[in-house]
This record gives sequence, structure tokens and C-alpha cells, in this order.
Amino acid sequence: MKKYIGIDIGGTSIKCAFVTEEGKILKKFGFPIVKGEKQETTIYRLGDLINDEIKKEGLRKEDFVGIGVGCPGSINNKLGVCCYNNNMGWLNLPVADLLKERTGIASKVSNDANVAMLGEAKFGAAKNYQNAVLVTLGTGVGGGLFLNGKLYEGNEGKGAEIGHMVIEMDGELCTCGRKGCLEAYASVTALIRQTKEAMHKHPESKMWAYVNNELDAVNGKTAFETSKMGDETAIEVVDRYENYLTVGLLNFCNIFRPEVILIGGGLSNQKEYLTDALQKKLEENKYGFQGTPKVNIFVTNLGNDAGVLGAAALWMEEK
Ligand SMILES: [Zn+2]
Repeated sequence: MKKYIGIDIGGTSIKCAFVTEEGKILKKFGFPIVKGEKQETTIYRLGDLINDEIKKEGLRKEDFVGIGVGCPGSINNKLGVCCYNNNMGWLNLPVADLLKERTGIASKVSNDANVAMLGEAKFGAAKNYQNAVLVTLGTGVGGGLFLNGKLYEGNEGKGAEIGHMVIEMDGELCTCGRKGCLEAYASVTALIRQTKEAMHKHPESKMWAYVNNELDAVNGKTAFETSKMGDETAIEVVDRYENYLTVGLLNFCNIFRPEVILIGGGLSNQKEYLTDALQKKLEENKYGFQGTPKVNIFVTNLGNDAGVLGAAALWMEEK
């Protein structure tokens, strides 16, 4: 039986899994990231842990097709290098080469959002589809593209930055330095900003009571949960937020004509409350163009396993 090793490098920990061809997780292991540790040391420790776990399970290195790694930051997937990672302070770290050197197993590295897309396309909410777009709504707006049955990453694996598509010329300043990106309107960070602005204008809103009059307590749930209680200001905030998001989704519909768009990240907890509203707005806009097929809006369904499964799938056959 072919086996794969999937590695998900996150903000606070490194998660690893032995995975089968069918996407079954045989074993999970990992360790917390030590901030300030020499970057090469972290990867060597990862390699040593993989070696130990293989031995512990009575397996052989030859049982594994390869090691796949999903890593945040700027990744060169051709070279298997993490060019830059702000959180870890990594700079030009040859992750794939160091892992291969330590374990003797061939290794690949891709951007974590792209890897999550691959996981969902192979084993998750988009497994029955050939064309999918993943939109993760969190601190920023990330995502990935699965086109014609395979992951699309662009040159050096640095494409698919779907959060930085401009939806409003000269609009809100984005973290990337440009103005008017989707991320500046549809991230949870943006939703929190929009929620606070509306609360300032509407002291009568129930959102104030929801956060015990503490503006600092406003989060991505505030407007959504209060809108469910019928608060008009919250309903407006959510509707406007969804309209911004819809502009982005309609662009994805027109450019990629996917069968499905997956919503991931923190806001995917809103499930059908969010996806039904988006589906309706896309339908009202004819999915971007008259006479085009329906684009399904689903939430992701692999949760935290998308990273290790997608990373393992970097070595699997295309659909
Ligand atoms: Zn941007």
C-alpha cells in the first residue's frame, strides 16, 4: 500500500500525518514551533521526528512515496524553498532539500493555502468536481485554485493570490500595499472594521449589548450573530459584507467558471447562513454572465486536516 507524509506548517505548530492513497490518516504527530529557533534546526528536528515515527510504526522509508509540505509565506514550489515567512522569520530556507537530506525521502513544498485547496479537491468538499476555487476568510483572504482536475499555482507557485484582486479602484488600503483588494473588504479584519463603523453610527444597535459595550470585543461573529436576532444595523453590515464578497466571487465565476466555490477560514463556521445568502446573490447575478452554469457555494469540510491531506496529495496522481 502506497503511503505519503503530509506536513502542515502553521503559526504555532507543525502537524504531520502518515496518509494513504485514499486520504485515510494512519497516524498524526507534530511539535510546537519554537520562535527564534535557527530556521535549519526546525526542519532538521522535523526530519528526525519523521524518522523516529517511521521506526516506531515498524515501517520502512521505502513505504513512502514522498513528503509534502504546506508552508505559509512566500514559497517557491519549483525549488522547494520558503523564500520568506514573516511569522517564523524564515528567509530562503530550502525546506525540501533539508528534509530529503535528513530523511532520505523526496520532498515537495507548496504554499499552505494552495495545499488546503488540493486537500479539499482530492478528499473534501470539492472531491466530486474538476474545477474549484477556495476562498478562506480569516485575518486576510487567502485561497487556491483547482482547475481542470489539478492544482493551479502559477509560476514558482506564487499565483492564486485571489485575495489581492482589486474590487474597488482607489479603495481601502490592503496589507499588500495596493488599494481596494478583496481582502480589504472581505477578510474578517475588514468585517470587524465595518462592524465597528456601523456601531458608531448606530448607538441603538443590539451589537453594543452583544459585546457588553466593549468595542475591543467585536469579532467576526458580532454582526452575523446579532443579525440572526433581527438587529437592522447588523443585517445591513452582513448584507454589505456579503455584497463585497459577491463581487469577488462573481469575478471568480467569470474567470474560472468553476463548478464549486468553497468558503473556508473562520467565517465558514456560519455555514448555510453565509453560503445560502451568497448562493442567492450569485444566482441573482446569473453567476456573472447570462446562460452560464450554476456555481455551488459550499463550506470546506476537512477542517484542520486539509493541510496534511493536501500536502500528502502533492505526491498523488491528478484527478
Ligand atoms: Zn492586497
